[in-house]
Amino acid sequence: MKKEFVFLIALSLCLITLVFFTTLPGRLRADKAAESSQSTSETTTETTLQTTVATEPEPEADNPWALYVVSEKHPLPDDFKVYPKKIQGDYEMDYRAANYFIDMVNAAAEDGIEIKVVSALRTIEYQKNLLDREIASFKAQGYSDEEAYKKAVEGVALPGASEHNAGLAVDLNSLEESFENSDEFRWLDEHAHEYGFILRYPKDKKDITGIYYEPWHYRFVGVYHAGKIKESGLTLEEYCEQRGV
Ligand SMILES: [Zn+2]
Repeated sequence: MKKEFVFLIALSLCLITLVFFTTLPGRLRADKAAESSQSTSETTTETTLQTTVATEPEPEADNPWALYVVSEKHPLPDDFKVYPKKIQGDYEMDYRAANYFIDMVNAAAEDGIEIKVVSALRTIEYQKNLLDREIASFKAQGYSDEEAYKKAVEGVALPGASEHNAGLAVDLNSLEESFENSDEFRWLDEHAHEYGFILRYPKDKKDITGIYYEPWHYRFVGVYHAGKIKESGLTLEEYCEQRGV
């Protein structure tokens, strides 16, 4: 009887100790929360942001990632990672480029220029549908299967072969060549490189880029490289080749 009593006391002590330690972190968090609820809302936002970014790699705007050539000749590897972040409405880019883009849009707005995203990050599946639609539209115009495919891939990249799949590119304002005559285009032409963006498919460079002139398609390469590319007039392909990237 006595032995059982001692055993019960010992067991109770163990249980009390266990409950104390397992609930300790929760109580500490509660204390912290009570403390921080007295601080400003600005601090709360900062804490949230840091928590989100901590699980992702460090932002490296001017690293080899920013110079990654994505094209039909260089489709994305299967393990290529994109970390989407909203840039405008539901449109997303990789978060390493997103803030540069947002800064650019805000700077343009200050100059009275409205930069509107019409396409940004696209999933591979979406890219596939886009290409299928383009092929169908050429077929509807009377082209053969082969001709329709050839014509379609001139304007729409193969799935995995588009910068949009990498979260590195945006299409802005208008998908018409006449966009080059707009104030928005002129502003971008003058300032995009300051925010790390280049006009990726310039006029008369299809033999190098594989894509016709697209005054609306802007590609993030980082501020340093964008300045150099703008200054040199080279395409991304030529620039990378020169640097041996
Ligand atoms: Zn585009």
